[in-house]
Amino acid sequence: MVKAIVGANWGDEGKGKITDMLAQDSDIIIRFQGGANAGHTIINNYGKFALHTLPSGVFYGHTTSIIGNGVALNIPVLFNELKEIVSKGVPEPKILVSDRAQIVMPYHILFDQYEEERLGGKSFGSTKSGIAPFYSDKYAKIGFQVNELFMEEDALREKIDRVLTQKNVLLEHLYHKPLIDADELYNTLMEYKEMVAPYVCNVSLYLDKALKEGKNILLEGQLGTLKDPDHGIYPMVTSSSTLAAYGAIGAGLPPYAIEKVVTVCKAYSSAVGAGAFVSEIFGDEAQELRVRGGDGGEFGATTGRPRRMGWFDCVASKYGCRMQGTTDVAFTVVDVLGYLDEIPVCVGYEIDGEVTTEFPVTPLLEKAKPVLKTLPGWKCDIRGIRRYEDLPENCRKYIEFVEEQIGYPITMVSNGPGRDDIIYRTV
Ligand code: GDP
Repeated sequence: MVKAIVGANWGDEGKGKITDMLAQDSDIIIRFQGGANAGHTIINNYGKFALHTLPSGVFYGHTTSIIGNGVALNIPVLFNELKEIVSKGVPEPKILVSDRAQIVMPYHILFDQYEEERLGGKSFGSTKSGIAPFYSDKYAKIGFQVNELFMEEDALREKIDRVLTQKNVLLEHLYHKPLIDADELYNTLMEYKEMVAPYVCNVSLYLDKALKEGKNILLEGQLGTLKDPDHGIYPMVTSSSTLAAYGAIGAGLPPYAIEKVVTVCKAYSSAVGAGAFVSEIFGDEAQELRVRGGDGGEFGATTGRPRRMGWFDCVASKYGCRMQGTTDVAFTVVDVLGYLDEIPVCVGYEIDGEVTTEFPVTPLLEKAKPVLKTLPGWKCDIRGIRRYEDLPENCRKYIEFVEEQIGYPITMVSNGPGRDDIIYRTV
C-alpha cells in the first residue's frame, strides 16, 4: 500500500510530524521532489530535528529511507544531515539514493544567489539553495544524474566542459562573477561520488519488488499545492511538482499504486516568500499568531526568517485538497488557536465585486479580498486530548466547519508537535 503525505497550502503544514508518525507502520519512506530548500521539523524521543533532505522516516530502525529521482539532491547537505542525526544518538538509518536522482551542483547555488542579487527588489524570495537553477538545468538536459558520477572519466570531463562553456558565459557577461574551473568541478564530483556510492540504488526496481511483497510505502512531499509550478500561484512557486500525482514519477511507482493521499492542512495559514496571500494578517495580530504558532513560532526551518501569517483559508485549502486528490485530511496545529476569543476564517474571495469559493489564477488572485466569517474560540489548551469527543465543543465546531467548507474528510486532528499528539476520527 502506498500513501502520499502532501501539503494543501503553502508548505509548513506539519507534514514532517505526520510522516514521522505514519512511518511507524511503514517499511519505506521516499522523498520524491524538492531539495534542501524547505525543511521539516520533527520532535521525537531523540530530540528536535530540522531535516531538509533526509526523509522523515530516518528515526526508525525498521524503515528504509529513499531519495527518489525527482529530488534535487545536494550530496554534502544529505551527508551532513546524516552525520548530525547519528551524532545525536539516532541509529544509522538505512538510506538509498536513486541512481536517476540529479545532483545540485555548487554552481546552482551560486546562480541562485547571483540571480536574486540581479533581480534586487523583484526577486522571488528564493532560499538560495540552487533549486530553480537545478530544475532549469534538469529540463534543459544539462543536469547530472547520480549514475553519471560513475561514467568513464573522459566522458564525464567532456560533459563538464560542455556545460561549463554555457555557465561561464553567464558568469562572465551577465553576473560578472568568477568563472568555474573544470578540474575543480571534476574533483568535487569525485568527492560526491565517494560519499554517495554506498547508497546508490535502482529505486524503481527496488520499489517494484517492495510493492509485490506488500510493503507499506510512504511518499513524503515538500511544500504544498499552492507552490506547485502548474497548479500553484505561478510564478511564486517552487520548481518541482508538489502534488501527490508527481509522487509516482519522482519515486518511480505506477500512478495507480498510490491508494491514499493524506493532505496536511494547517488550522491557520502561513507562507514564506513573495506572492498573493489573501487571508494574510499583519502587525500585532500576526505577530501573536507567529510567536505562538507551530512549535516555537512560525519561523523558517531552513532560513529562520519569519513566516507570513493569515487566518485559515477555506478557498485555498479546498483547492489545495482537490488538486492533491485527497482521501484524508490531517488537520494540524489546532492547539495553537486556543488563545483566541474569536477565530476569523476566510470563506470566500471577493474579486471585482463578486464572491467566489473557487481558487482563481494568479492575476485574479492578486485582486482578491478575503470574505471572513468569525467562529467562537474555545479558550483552553487542548494538548493531551486523545479522543475527538473530548475536544471542547467550539473546537469541534471549528474543525467541522472547515471540513464542510473544504469538502474532504478530516480523519486526523493534530493537537501538538509530538508523535502522539494526534486524534484519529472516523467520518
Ligand atoms: P512541514 O514542512 O510541513 O513538515 O512543516 P514544518 O516542520 O515547517 O512546520 C510545522 C511545525 O509545526 C513544526 O515545528 C512542527 O513541530 C509543528 N507542529 C506540527 N504539528 C503540530 C501541532 O499539531 N501542534 C503544534 N503546536 N505544532 C505542530
